[in-house]
Amino acid sequence: MLDRRFVLENIDAVRDNCERRGIHLDLSRFVSLEEQRKRLQQQVDDLNRSANELAKSIPKAAKEEKPALIEQGKTLRTQRAEAEQALQDVVQEADALLAAIPNMSHPESPAGGEEDSREIGRGKTPLPAYAFQPKDHVELGEALDLIDLEAGAKVAGHGFYFLRNEAVLLDMALQSFALHRLVQEGFTLVSTPDLARNEVLAGTGYVPRGPETQIYSIADSDLSLIATSEITLAGMLSGKILEQADLPILLCGHSHCFRTEAGAHGRASRGLYRVHQFTKVEMFAFTTPDASAAMHERLKAIECQLFDDLGIPYRILDIATGDLGAPAYRKYDLEAWMPGRGEAGEFGEVTSTSNCTDYQARRLNIRYRPQGGGRPQHLHMLNGTAVATSRALIAVLENYQQADGSIQVPEVLRPYVGKDVIGPR
Ligand code: AMP
Repeated sequence: MLDRRFVLENIDAVRDNCERRGIHLDLSRFVSLEEQRKRLQQQVDDLNRSANELAKSIPKAAKEEKPALIEQGKTLRTQRAEAEQALQDVVQEADALLAAIPNMSHPESPAGGEEDSREIGRGKTPLPAYAFQPKDHVELGEALDLIDLEAGAKVAGHGFYFLRNEAVLLDMALQSFALHRLVQEGFTLVSTPDLARNEVLAGTGYVPRGPETQIYSIADSDLSLIATSEITLAGMLSGKILEQADLPILLCGHSHCFRTEAGAHGRASRGLYRVHQFTKVEMFAFTTPDASAAMHERLKAIECQLFDDLGIPYRILDIATGDLGAPAYRKYDLEAWMPGRGEAGEFGEVTSTSNCTDYQARRLNIRYRPQGGGRPQHLHMLNGTAVATSRALIAVLENYQQADGSIQVPEVLRPYVGKDVIGPR
């Protein structure tokens, strides 16, 4: 959420930004509601004062004046109740509009939609050249008894899956590899609940439940399955005031993620690419405002290092304004090469890192106390995927396939998997 005063003082810049992000909001209505709010608040205060003064004067008044004063008091209370109701309605509408305004955007974020995101770099591993027709992960996984989509669909529906044999070890290996690396980077490991209360979801912007928020809710409770541990990690610190000396706080969340993925179909979503349940190792950082841009670069660099060490080719995208989502000020995605995707291979998103500046912190009321004294300020919050399996698993299976259909295990994962090659049983 943006700061109310900032919006009012920079209404043209906020309007331009909404346009750049393809979000249509009636900001003139917001300005007019804020004027009404001020006026009604003044009216309520005045009526309060008058009612109090009148109440004090009644005991001192002459007997014959009292009935008229009591009547006047009733009228004032009725007028105050009406003004309070009008104020409440205006506040509610203005707050809803304010909450819908997206974060401002980094001036270098490309303007436009998904197709306008700009490639800003490539990984160290070159694109592979095969002397055979590469297969996709579904074909590879089914032939080696690693993935069972049919059983997943039978048990839980389309978009669920079973992993089997070495795929289970590979999946765990990717997580362990990322977790160990993040400990070396100074992150505190946190295994989070897979469910969260509605108020926590609201604080992180995951309401209302629907196609946009992707959230599964548990019937007869105020709990939902989390779409990312960003929700639980942010909730963990909501309402807190941290000391500047303790920043940055670096957390590494480990959780399952659940997404309804309403309306997602087609070949690009095949197999493990767009599923309802996956596991994610997530980076989360809390910083002072002046440190967030450098932290964003650092989260991107960690993502790049992980995929370079896995030996998987990728490209880095600076995400266009129309595809940032509401909280992000700037976002980078890593897209890994997936040779089995499309006709001749395609890049597919494997990680995403966002600098949300103080947008989430304001709603969640997470602040820090400046070292030199002064009032607590909202801090900056950033998130980034270290590894999301199922997609990291796709990248490994498809990039490490060999002519005979076996899969080489990436060197950095061998200690966790316990073998170099996954072949037919
Ligand atoms: P997001 O939190 O939407 O930025 O997603 C973070 C990462 O989670 C993405 O970069 C993907 O690697 C992964 N991811 C998101 N949605 C899905 C899904 N439905 N199925 C599999 N992986 C996903």
